[in-house]
Amino acid sequence: MPFDLLVVGGGIQGAAVARDAAMRGLRVLLLERGDLASGTSSRSSKLIHGGIRYLETGQFGLVREALRERAILLRLASEFVRPLPFLIPHYRREGRPRFLVRAGLALYAALAGHHALARHRTLDATEARALEPELRPEGLLGASLYWDAQMDDALLCVSVAVDAERAGATIRTYAAVVGLEVRGSSWRARFHDVDSGEERIEEARCVVNAAGPWAEAIRGLVRAAPGVGLRRTRGTHVVVPSLTREKALLLTAHRDGRAFFVLPWGEHSLIGTTDVDDSTPPERVAPDAGDVRYLLEEAARALPRLRGDARPLRAFAGLRSLAQGSAIRPWANSREHRIVEEGTMLTLIGGKYTTHRSLAERVVDRVAALTGVRVGRCVTAETELPGRLRAIAELTPRYPGKLRLEGSLEITEAEVAHAVQKEHARHPDDILERRSRLWLRLDAMRRAAPQVAAWMGSHLGWDESRRAREVERVAHAMDREAQVLDAAMEGGRT
Ligand SMILES: Cc1cc2nc3c(=O)[nH]c(=O)nc-3n(C[C@H](O)[C@H](O)[C@H](O)COP(=O)(O)OP(=O)(O)OC[C@H]3O[C@@H](n4cnc5c(N)ncnc54)[C@H](O)[C@@H]3O)c2cc1C
Repeated sequence: MPFDLLVVGGGIQGAAVARDAAMRGLRVLLLERGDLASGTSSRSSKLIHGGIRYLETGQFGLVREALRERAILLRLASEFVRPLPFLIPHYRREGRPRFLVRAGLALYAALAGHHALARHRTLDATEARALEPELRPEGLLGASLYWDAQMDDALLCVSVAVDAERAGATIRTYAAVVGLEVRGSSWRARFHDVDSGEERIEEARCVVNAAGPWAEAIRGLVRAAPGVGLRRTRGTHVVVPSLTREKALLLTAHRDGRAFFVLPWGEHSLIGTTDVDDSTPPERVAPDAGDVRYLLEEAARALPRLRGDARPLRAFAGLRSLAQGSAIRPWANSREHRIVEEGTMLTLIGGKYTTHRSLAERVVDRVAALTGVRVGRCVTAETELPGRLRAIAELTPRYPGKLRLEGSLEITEAEVAHAVQKEHARHPDDILERRSRLWLRLDAMRRAAPQVAAWMGSHLGWDESRRAREVERVAHAMDREAQVLDAAMEGGRT
């Protein structure tokens, strides 16, 4: 019997569609060519937010919906999403004028309505420096304080997919769709196991193409139809040792007036992002040295302790797949989603992490209408997403190993056991990059790789040479990233 629904892509949008559809009683298959969240969904700014800067481009509907979804996620996915205070510093003759920011925050609060997290406030320069002593004092007039939320993006995506599986969906990772054709009233999907090369076929009545920046490639498997207007822009982040006291900063870049963030992650800060048109094949997207220098130099203007030539601990990039709008500048392009319907195939374009749940609800409503399958009502706005910490704690007596790394970073044998047994982890980078906090530092990931490969190998039956190959795979990826950082630092000195 064919599946009711095939979802292509195990990023947040595909995982959310699979979860909603399975919870409403559909028979669902999700195929992901790599690891869950290995595409854009682990390279975001990790904010669950209304997106205050989208007010400047008039995207009020998106902001209102995102603020409502923020409230739902804070309530139902509290292990992965937490409130975060933001400061917007005001400098004399720099950035957006104070009255404009105040008006924007008042509108943001109005759009949030009863979902607002706390009242925004205006601070004078002394109060602003008391909250964030690292802010450059020269020209500082004060700051605006408001609240949004921060998330563990990859962990949230993995947990949504695992919950889809719990609801009955079949999830296959490292399963790349290589052929799609309509046979009678069903779709026939050909896919291969990326590790073994083995090829398989499955059938489904409806397809949701949730391949993010690869969406056009998936459509191309079906027919040489004209493009659906996908604009891909690269967003780079860098990680540096902590610059702020648990507050996020929303800053204005001096050279182009763009808004960007400095976000606290314990002993680290995440700086991002850039927004540059990029037509590189999505699997090869990487930060370039110019992105890294841009972020360091712009952040150093507001936070002089960060030297513009300081070497970051990490740099990573993701591709936004945006619905092409009329804006010339990438950062002014609309972030609203589009659902492109071609027969019984739905392609998802654009959209935000923050609105994944509501988008999935709309998509599953359409799937039901297109296939005529009777589905239950959507319950994702009232069903808690199970956390993973309790399950990991239960495994600790059996798997007691622990590896301490730089600062307070650590990885435990129980986390690895859980990732392999319950979360589809197949390679050490699945754990280092997406199921632990080690993503914050290249050196920590490199140091942990042999131990993680040893722990994984004991579950997956790896011999010595397989373990060595897995460690080598991590080292190779780390070397490539280190080269980008070297190039950025080289450029910074010339
Ligand atoms: C730099 C940056 C910062 C962002 N920051 C935020 C933020 O702070 N807050 C927010 O709300 N949103 C943010 N976003 C947007 C958000 O990250 C994206 O909207 C979201 O991650 C997109 O998820 P997706 O599932 O559509 O795509 P992806 O996560 O890219 O998933 C698509 C998946 O399809 C798989 N795939 C591709 N081809 C095949 C195939 N042939 N067979 C099987 N699988 C295939 C890929 O491997 C991939 O895993 C940001 C985006 C970027 C780029």
